[in-house]
Amino acid sequence: MKIIRQGLVESKLDIEIQRKDPNSPLYSVKTFEALHLKPNLLKGVYAMGFNAPSKIQETALPTLLADPPQNMIAQSQSGTGKTAAFVLAMLTRVDPTKNYPQVLCLSPTYELAIQTGEVAAKMAKFCPEIKLKYAVRGEEVPRGTKLTDHIVIGTPGKMLDWGVKFGMFDMSKIKVFVLDEADVMIDRQGHQDQCIRIHKCLPTTCQMMFFSATYGANVMEFAEVIVPNPIIIRLLREEESLDNIKQYYVKCKSPEEKYRAICNIYGVITIGQAIIFCHTRKTASWLSEKMSKDGHSVAVLSGELTVDQRIAVLDRFRAGLEKVLITTNVLSRGIDVEQVTLVVNFDMPMDMDKKADCETYLHRIGRTGRFGKAGIAINLVDSTQAMDICKEIESHFGKKIQLLDIEDAEEIE
Ligand code: ADP
Repeated sequence: MKIIRQGLVESKLDIEIQRKDPNSPLYSVKTFEALHLKPNLLKGVYAMGFNAPSKIQETALPTLLADPPQNMIAQSQSGTGKTAAFVLAMLTRVDPTKNYPQVLCLSPTYELAIQTGEVAAKMAKFCPEIKLKYAVRGEEVPRGTKLTDHIVIGTPGKMLDWGVKFGMFDMSKIKVFVLDEADVMIDRQGHQDQCIRIHKCLPTTCQMMFFSATYGANVMEFAEVIVPNPIIIRLLREEESLDNIKQYYVKCKSPEEKYRAICNIYGVITIGQAIIFCHTRKTASWLSEKMSKDGHSVAVLSGELTVDQRIAVLDRFRAGLEKVLITTNVLSRGIDVEQVTLVVNFDMPMDMDKKADCETYLHRIGRTGRFGKAGIAINLVDSTQAMDICKEIESHFGKKIQLLDIEDAEEIE
């Protein structure tokens, strides 16, 4: 099976380190050498084409590799190098002179387990003494077998069978326990029961590493209960706010239809305040004229205003004198108006090459849903290009953008 892996995503957003254990100094590294890896492991890292650690790697690895071992709950977006980070930690912790399982890694699916194993195999290319076993469907081992592999990567059901039910290895000798996609793994709807049963058999000295791109509030709370004194690495709120913002798209055929869509949305939902993003100043002023004519109180903020004028416009908006603010990208970042419950992308955000500008999208829709409040983001899609951008954004963040039938908009309430 071939799994296509995406390239490393640079996370531009900052991460925040919540240090729980005051005794553990935190430092970050800018090179792989600074981690003092085993030479053959370092060789493997370079052979994979990694020149320097990614953000999550530079932050997490020194702690993961430090002695005494530290527990960690870490969050970073997909494609930022989490897998490579914990795999490197797993390989470093193995003592290949002892022929029994020492490291367990749990993944939610067969495919992910295989994918992680493939990363481990590649990274350990120059460490042939390290043996790896998959505990996944299709792998059958006769009862009574004692595993001699150092690392076992698998899904919860099989791992539970092998480690706990059939005693194919000694759970009390596990030094490192990795939970990948930790949020689904310990969510009650997910694999919680099985993971907890495995977790219960681990020795107290076992180092726990939880990695995920997202953590719901409940999941994080629960993680902190089962992981003693963790170092917690989280994304900043800006990034997390996606969770409480419902995202939709509306199919339109023309600017006129986009305009009608906005009017319909207004007709059916009670809106605190709204910000509408347009690609150009021209569209922004066209739209504001139309909306004003129809009796909406609208403000426009675009690049040609002086700084003082901008502040004046914003102050009026904050004070609620206008309910709608129409703007271009000048406003995608930073402003914080608490009552904004709706963000409309009249035009999808794109970069110079007309590709999806995911970062701007995040900042735009982050204008609503501040401080965990609920918000709605609606994307008006009027071309195949806009649809492509919408799909790209959806897959980039791994969050569904739902089709909204504007004639039947009660569903968004
Ligand atoms: P995640 O687990 O966060 O989704 P991965 O560890 O799978 O991220 O990394 C994403 C992609 O980036 C993979 O193709 C991986 O090989 C590559 N990658 C990871 N770390 C680095 C690095 N330090 N330098 C270059 N590429 C990297």
